[in-house]
Amino acid sequence: KRGATLLNDPVLNKGTAFSAAERDAFGLRGLLPPRVMTQDEQLERILPGVRARPTPIDQYAYLVALHDRNVTLFYRLVMDNLEEFLPVLYTPTVGQACEEFGRIFRRSRGLYVTSEDRGRVRDVLANWPHDDVRMIVVTDGERILGLGDLGANGMGIPIGKLTLYTACAGVSPHQCLPITIDVGTDNTALRESAAYMGVRDPRMRGEEYDALLDEFVEAVKERFPLACLQFEDFGNHNAFTLLEKWRDRTCTFNDDIQGTASVTLGGLLSAAKLTGVPLRDMRLMFLGAGEAGIGIGDLVVQEMIAEGLTELEARQRCWFMDSRGLVVASRTDLAEHKRRFAHEYDAVASLQEAVEQLKPHALIGVSGQPGTFTPGVLTAMAANHPRPIIMALSNPTSKAECTAREAYSATDGRAVFASGSPFAPVTYKERTHVPGQGNNAYIFPGVGLGVIVSESSRVTDEMFAAAARTLAGLVTPEDLAMGRIYPSLTRIREVSRAIAIEVAKIAFDRGLARTARPDDLAAAVSAAMYEPVYQSLI
Ligand code: NAP
Ligand code: MN
Repeated sequence: KRGATLLNDPVLNKGTAFSAAERDAFGLRGLLPPRVMTQDEQLERILPGVRARPTPIDQYAYLVALHDRNVTLFYRLVMDNLEEFLPVLYTPTVGQACEEFGRIFRRSRGLYVTSEDRGRVRDVLANWPHDDVRMIVVTDGERILGLGDLGANGMGIPIGKLTLYTACAGVSPHQCLPITIDVGTDNTALRESAAYMGVRDPRMRGEEYDALLDEFVEAVKERFPLACLQFEDFGNHNAFTLLEKWRDRTCTFNDDIQGTASVTLGGLLSAAKLTGVPLRDMRLMFLGAGEAGIGIGDLVVQEMIAEGLTELEARQRCWFMDSRGLVVASRTDLAEHKRRFAHEYDAVASLQEAVEQLKPHALIGVSGQPGTFTPGVLTAMAANHPRPIIMALSNPTSKAECTAREAYSATDGRAVFASGSPFAPVTYKERTHVPGQGNNAYIFPGVGLGVIVSESSRVTDEMFAAAARTLAGLVTPEDLAMGRIYPSLTRIREVSRAIAIEVAKIAFDRGLARTARPDDLAAAVSAAMYEPVYQSLI
């Protein structure tokens, strides 16, 4: 590529950083301002402009535009300022970006597979320009964060997740592929809006949907045989069904079920160091018995068994509330995945009553219902335990079960608090508490990198348990002293690297790897990590 074509290729483009020799060799002379800049000088030039954008969504749009012209500079900027830009490219701003997708959209990114593509999904995948795809994030847009059905506008989520794969774990950008399966939307206001770019039909369901998804997964296996397929933000029923169907047949996982489980287990393991109550002795109350809740419950049970409990004992330590109250055995309306947590107990309608009666050590919000951890609920948690664990995991921030300040003030500053979207530190009675971000961003990038390096043929629960323990192991005494049960986000590449090593080890030990075991696995993981530095084209 040369001349304007080279400048228009966001992967190869360096903008003002093309050297004099490159400008001569590739016909760029005159097409750029004369001064040759280093990448650092480019950053210095554009960062104030990004920061001057009035709102996070304007910053988001700016960053997307930067990505469209210069991928390397985009990742340099994001990776050098992760804590600042993660909330812009990911939760909470990515939620708004999905809601306003039609307004923000400039240039298409990723692949769309639609209900009309039955019988030709292969051809659609063939159009993707890169062959060595290793990480795919796919959504059908039915349950975007806690925001509900956003149809084809859900594309913001796979794009955001894959940005994190690169920024947090160094998965090469050209190995990442965001996909939206657009089967219509039941969000009628969205469907009928002028800016909507998706299929303007009600959601396709049932056998037709299943057949399309089968065709899709088979086509992915054929076109990208080494790729890991991450399902993201599917509706509850399809999420469980697809995971059960494919987990033992291809390299796949569901991030809402398994990734969330891992980050939450990691948080509980490090919270145990603050409360003095080990996981095996904890009683957990979940608000929400969906993908996230049941996923966490299952992984916690697996870990409690590893800590010496029987499966029955472990299950009895996990209690769930759904939209109809406490999940108990006498209920006849329970979906299959809830039944394994339905205990013999009287019906309880309100969360506060359930907390008062069952005295959980930890309260885990995965309901998408803001404000449900009321002062009454939080006070009840504080009455039962000196250090109650409160996790308000629903995203984006507007859906959190409570805010950080509410958690600390209703518990007299005793809460061990974490949330799915970031909250700023809270000073309560002269003490500053730093809430941890219980977000699967700590988990999936490292798991993906480990799978890529080992070319694993499966993603297993053992890997997610190992990721949780690795994450907890990286929490420092200083983190805990601030009340933070997760490592600082600034260490996320170190976290991802450590998780990748453990995941790859499991792949090799269990015979799942499809490549030879390197002599030095840690070095192989490091070597696989992308760095956003310009390569000389000469
Ligand atoms: P889901 O599968 O749709 O499950 C939602 C659950 O919440 C269902 O069990 C539902 O009850 C229950 N629920 C709804 N309203 C309720 C209420 N008023 N009281 C009690 N329970 C109620 O969704 P999901 O995938 O689990 O996601 C739920 C939330 O978790 C979302 O906001 C999402 O953003 C968040 N999440 C966070 C992370 C993270 O990393 N922090 C990861 C994944 C998901 P029924 O079963 O009765 O309908
Ligand atoms: Mn999700």
